Amino acid sequence: MFPTKKSQLIENLIKFSAKELSSYSKRRNYDLGPPHKNVSKLSPYLRTRFITEEEVLKISVSNNNNKNIEKFIEEIFWRTYWRGWLESHPWIYHEYLDNNKHQPLPMRTGIKCFDNWKEELIDTGYLHNHSRMWFASIWIFTLGYSWQSGAEFFKRNLLDFCPAANTLGWRWVAGLQTINKPYLAKADNINYFTNGRFNPVGQLNEMVNLNYIEQNNYRVLPCINPEKIEFKNFDNLGIILNRNDLSLNNIFKIKKMTYECCVYSTEHENKLVNEFNKNIIQDVLNNNKNFEITKDYNQIIDWLTNKKIKNLVLPYETVGNKIFNTEKFKNELRKLNIQYHFFLRDWDRNAFPYATKGFFKFKKNIPDLINILDIGMKLK
Ligand SMILES: Cc1cc2nc3c(=O)[nH]c(=O)nc-3n(C[C@H](O)[C@H](O)[C@H](O)COP(=O)(O)OP(=O)(O)OC[C@H]3O[C@@H](n4cnc5c(N)ncnc54)[C@H](O)[C@@H]3O)c2cc1C
Repeated sequence: MFPTKKSQLIENLIKFSAKELSSYSKRRNYDLGPPHKNVSKLSPYLRTRFITEEEVLKISVSNNNNKNIEKFIEEIFWRTYWRGWLESHPWIYHEYLDNNKHQPLPMRTGIKCFDNWKEELIDTGYLHNHSRMWFASIWIFTLGYSWQSGAEFFKRNLLDFCPAANTLGWRWVAGLQTINKPYLAKADNINYFTNGRFNPVGQLNEMVNLNYIEQNNYRVLPCINPEKIEFKNFDNLGIILNRNDLSLNNIFKIKKMTYECCVYSTEHENKLVNEFNKNIIQDVLNNNKNFEITKDYNQIIDWLTNKKIKNLVLPYETVGNKIFNTEKFKNELRKLNIQYHFFLRDWDRNAFPYATKGFFKFKKNIPDLINILDIGMKLK
């Protein structure tokens, strides 16, 4: 289900957008089991920007009119929204990290759909969105586990793990994001949207009353506004790609700037996720023969020194995605007299300021956010 070559991914996306996208809004909520043809399965690639949101939209719109793909565009913006929201509420992620998340994994529960989804996630690194919602709801309200331990289980197994979408997705199901409005998995809904594959009648807790008093959602940090990079006078430019952005160099390539580039790759404890990450990084290296691979800080420092880098660009690190934005690393750069810039793409820079409240308010800005980008489509 998850190719690791960009050429194959684009081929699949062209097919998806020609065959499936026009019925996406009607069919996206059905989980008919692997290979999940009715949804794009783009999340592991968008998360790493192996492919960007703009590239996806350009391909989608070439096969569809704007009306057909409005829902798809809205879904793509959900992750942008969650990421922006977490930027202005970072304590929510830190509280999650501080919480004890380790609970034994439920063994076979006898709830067929739940056991099936657990296995599917472990075997493939993916779950359909509706099943993530049902799974999280059963985990919390029927089995009585903490949402944090569920979020941790997803974190370990998802190919697309995104700190914002995962943490806030679990909080939303738990009734913490939209306060006291939990998402309750219901047998008839599961039966309907799985086309009768599962029907856990009488097995789920379908009635829950919550009474949280949550203050933390209402505090909002001022919007981040990192300095916009002037592309002039970028001598001895170096770019480090990593799992936060595997195509950042293209921005500089389009501007015909000369740069050196390395890809930073680390091990993941989960074998399946590790293989996937390694393979997409290998594809980036295969397509750019002059890029180097680095596996630890020392190799990065050697690369910076050998290439005589004076200006370094790294992907912006949103909450939960810290790799290089540490005092230790920045001090090393200062010692080497290297100017560094954590680059926030315009896609995020434009959208994050609108992501401080609910998605409903945020989504009203989507047409404007699309229209200011140069992707060959205009929304009303
Ligand atoms: C409890 C829970 C945990 C989740 N954890 C993650 C996670 O760690 N990483 C992640 O990328 N998504 C997460 N999601 C969101 C969503 O389930 C996945 O993005 C989606 O299932 C990916 O499949 P797709 O690419 O086929 O989606 P499509 O339906 O084809 O959507 C296209 C793209 O839109 C974005 N998107 C779609 N739905 C959502 C959504 N509800 N929230 C945020 N973005 C969305 C994704 O980038 C996706 O690739 C989570 C949802 C829940 C309920």
